[in-house]
Amino acid sequence: MIPFNVPPCTGNEMNYIEEAIASHKICGDGAFTRRCNEWMEKRFHAHKVLLTTSGTTALDMASLLCDLKPGDEVILPSFTFSSSATAFAIYGAKLVFVDVRPDTMNIDETKIEAAITDKTRVILAMHYAGVACEMDTIMDIAHRHGLLVVEDAAQGVMSSYKGKALGTIGDFGCYSFHETKNYSMGEGGAVLVNNPAYVERAEILREKGTNRSKFYRGQVDKYTWVDIGDSFLPSELNAAYLWAQLEMADEINNDRLASWQRYWDAFQDLAAAGRVTLPTIPADCVHNAHMFYIKCKDLAERTALISFLKERDILAVFHYVPLHSAPAGLRFGRFHGEDRYTTAESDRLVRLPLYYKLTTEDQDRVIKAVRDFYGV
Ligand SMILES: *Cc1c(COP(=O)(O)O)cnc(C)c1O
Repeated sequence: MIPFNVPPCTGNEMNYIEEAIASHKICGDGAFTRRCNEWMEKRFHAHKVLLTTSGTTALDMASLLCDLKPGDEVILPSFTFSSSATAFAIYGAKLVFVDVRPDTMNIDETKIEAAITDKTRVILAMHYAGVACEMDTIMDIAHRHGLLVVEDAAQGVMSSYKGKALGTIGDFGCYSFHETKNYSMGEGGAVLVNNPAYVERAEILREKGTNRSKFYRGQVDKYTWVDIGDSFLPSELNAAYLWAQLEMADEINNDRLASWQRYWDAFQDLAAAGRVTLPTIPADCVHNAHMFYIKCKDLAERTALISFLKERDILAVFHYVPLHSAPAGLRFGRFHGEDRYTTAESDRLVRLPLYYKLTTEDQDRVIKAVRDFYGV
């Protein structure tokens, strides 16, 4: 069986986990957490990076920092993971979904402005498949209307837009290190605080509402409860696992990109003949090969392809059920404008196996099976 995903493992994970155990520091914010945070700050030119327990809690932190009141509105795509939405719904915000662009499946930046009301506070930009949203336009709209921008860059670690790392462009960026992502710690994530005005509150929210971070830096002589908060910091055992990935981030990235390119090359003729649609990478975007998807003719063809591959022991999977049509989406949100592409394009999309150390043999089997399905 060729799985859809295999969690990344570089070989150094056990050594670092043992090191963490031997240091007698396995709670959060120890040496490995610091190493991971500082590595990301340097590598991505990020102002402040804080590891979290998941991509979802990174979004929760970003949402808390936005300080929304019940009834405030957040504009986001409907074609995204539930975490992008629930992070705001949990604090009483109303979700306003807009359509996606069919080429990248990202929020259609030309549809955002019409969805703004006097209640709008936040634009959530989710970078699908690690390919950037049109951030210049989104940031310009946000500045003109006084809105905050949260980047859901869960899939976008090591990707960039016009030379800027995804997650570092909006006010807040959110990464995921779930086992299905390019770099993993099992469950985990990071919040990037790009707007310096929010760093102190971010540290407090993450530390159960206390000023413990300031205390450790010697900036206050005792630590105390100063605000609301939660426990958003992961264990050192998880951070140690992540460190083994980050120190080999380029190797992982190059390996994934090579697999992505092999798929791309293998399906050029099918795309040219109009049988399938391949992903678009806009000129301003450098992606991280988080995902390789193709779009079939329609839902029926996609269903047939997935079962054709399954019979050949290959796991290919579709993606999001648009949030505006989900039970919670109906309850917490509304779709602004026409759903021209969200549902129709989502119905056509299928993701092929892609993971660190996918062998060329296995990949050739996937490629051949897809080509057999289309009779080429
Ligand atoms: C994976 C993912 C998340 C959630 O990350 P977790 O670490 O699983 O909580 C959020 N948004 C998007 C777009 C994702 O792909």
